[in-house]
Amino acid sequence: MRLYTATITSNNEIRAGVHLIEMHVPALASAVQPGQYCMVRCCHALASDPLLRRPFFVHSVRPALGLCTLLVHVQGRGTSWLGGQREGGTLDILGPLGHGWEVRPTVRNLLLVSESSMISSITLLAQSAIEQELAVTLVAHFSNAAEVYPPALLPPEVEYHIITADGSLGEQGEVQGALGDYLVWADAACCSVSRETAVVLYATFERMRGRNFAQALVLRPLVCASGVCLSCSFETLSGMKVICRDGPVFDLREVARSVTI
Ligand SMILES: Cc1cc2nc3c(=O)[nH]c(=O)nc-3n(C[C@H](O)[C@H](O)[C@H](O)COP(=O)(O)OP(=O)(O)OC[C@H]3O[C@@H](n4cnc5c(N)ncnc54)[C@H](O)[C@@H]3O)c2cc1C
Repeated sequence: MRLYTATITSNNEIRAGVHLIEMHVPALASAVQPGQYCMVRCCHALASDPLLRRPFFVHSVRPALGLCTLLVHVQGRGTSWLGGQREGGTLDILGPLGHGWEVRPTVRNLLLVSESSMISSITLLAQSAIEQELAVTLVAHFSNAAEVYPPALLPPEVEYHIITADGSLGEQGEVQGALGDYLVWADAACCSVSRETAVVLYATFERMRGRNFAQALVLRPLVCASGVCLSCSFETLSGMKVICRDGPVFDLREVARSVTI
């Protein structure tokens, strides 16, 4: 983990309230692993509001050029400030942090599952898996066509299966209904979904594929990001875990069968 000063090279609002921010920050671009996150200071250097840094995944990297991108959904004060930053501005970033996605060396076919804005947690994994010549399918659920993550931002080799709740683009329905044949094809699954969906997926995955097949993400507002304040702790079958240090990626079983989240 290090403190970086990143220089913004572009900020594109890809749809209302969603910014793709590209930054020149070579050491981070080389160091970050898929599923790890960074804590970004969301105010100017001499200001202190908001006081706490905000967590973001690195959405993609181009290590040869020293570039990283963040995909920022504007929610409140911190993300509004970040979305308003322009080319040439600097960002103060702490990272990479946490325990990300682990793909076993024997995996050839990788299934990625995501819901809505959580997709930024797996885009770097898609990029890295394609670079390692894995076959990658992303099954992603959105509420409607306007919210769909642009296919052009994914490596072209990724098979992208879009599901919308209202059927305005791709297949209509829920994510679990679309997994069918992919579960037979995949050697491993990485799921960036709500806990409710994780519980449903776990029942199917364990029945069809047994243990250690899938990992899942747990997201909650983070305060210290160093495992000290315990505000992001939750009780699993194997004991107390903190999301900021032990996660945000866990075995799906731990997430689905956790006592409190
Ligand atoms: C490990 C991790 C990685 C993340 N990566 C990304 C990312 O790549 N892109 C992105 O757009 N967002 C990401 N988020 C969520 C992002 O950090 C929050 O949206 C942000 O902190 C909100 O800050 P704010 O000051 O704009 O809003 P605030 O004023 O602090 O809060 C606005 C609203 O957002 C809610 N909120 C805050 N944090 C979260 C959270 N973690 N999950 C759900 N709701 C939240 C608050 O409860 C409140 O209702 C990530 C969160 C975590 C924990």
